[in-house]
Amino acid sequence: MRIDLHTHSTVSDGTESPRDVMRAAHAAGIDVVALTDHDSMSGLEDAGEMAAGLGMNFVPGIEVSCRHNGVSIHLLAYWPDPSNDEIVAMLARTRDARVDRAKEIVRRVGVDYPLAWDDVLAHSDGADTVGRPHIADALVERGVFATRDDAFAKVLAGNSAYYVPHYAPDVVDAVRTFRRTGAVTVFAHPGADGRGKVVPTSVIELMADAGLVGLEVGHRDHNEHQRDRLARIAQRLGLVHTGASDYHGTGKLNRLGENVTSPAALQQLQDARGR
Ligand code: AMP
Ligand code: FE
Ligand code: FE
Ligand code: ZN
Repeated sequence: MRIDLHTHSTVSDGTESPRDVMRAAHAAGIDVVALTDHDSMSGLEDAGEMAAGLGMNFVPGIEVSCRHNGVSIHLLAYWPDPSNDEIVAMLARTRDARVDRAKEIVRRVGVDYPLAWDDVLAHSDGADTVGRPHIADALVERGVFATRDDAFAKVLAGNSAYYVPHYAPDVVDAVRTFRRTGAVTVFAHPGADGRGKVVPTSVIELMADAGLVGLEVGHRDHNEHQRDRLARIAQRLGLVHTGASDYHGTGKLNRLGENVTSPAALQQLQDARGR
């Protein structure tokens, strides 16, 4: 059984529609798949329908942009309640803040490179959540950089002078909110220090106290050392050890199923639902 619990569609910064992500997962031999767009649940219905039609088990999810002491944290939440006002408002506030923030990044980058807000709109059209990858795509289209990754390396990284943060809820509050509403949270790529600052173990402990259920140990952005460290932390804190691709279509090298979650771990996530 192949289980991939972290994928993105055109609802956020993936390059394929929710239905096409499900088709791609099926073609890759995935049996259980989650769609986890950044800060939006709007692809879940389509993806769920498509997955069921293809005979896969579907896990609805989101990847929530959070923060703690100024460090950006991505929190996966599975089985989020789409009718919960608090969750809907939290995600809407972040999505709104992302628009102003993206405009400010474009303004800064536009001083040195040929880039206008309309270029970004052409690449985020139809997306519910605007992010730096859309700005990267616009720069690639303008011929400034060859790939999304190049654009990140040169101008979009978190330590770049062009970088602007956006509002995001505190991660401990977010874990509590999802917990209270029956969802199951997993800390996404906690050791991905190639993208920016990561939080110390003490913050994982705070999150665990607030009701965090799992740690995404298996992820392309973790080396062997980080995987060992995170696996030990998961063991010590009683957190479920997951792994996933973080597929973004052609937007990133990540391939569906390149990291997976074990059936036993999926069962533990399911058992934590609504508890
Ligand atoms: P944002 O949500 O706008 O802050 O952008 C974060 C997204 O950009 C992540 O979800 C990834 O899809 C992508 N990303 C972040 N860091 C990098 C990087 N160093 N190289 C390529 N893509 C990245
Ligand atoms: Fe992304
Ligand atoms: Fe992420
Ligand atoms: Zn992701």
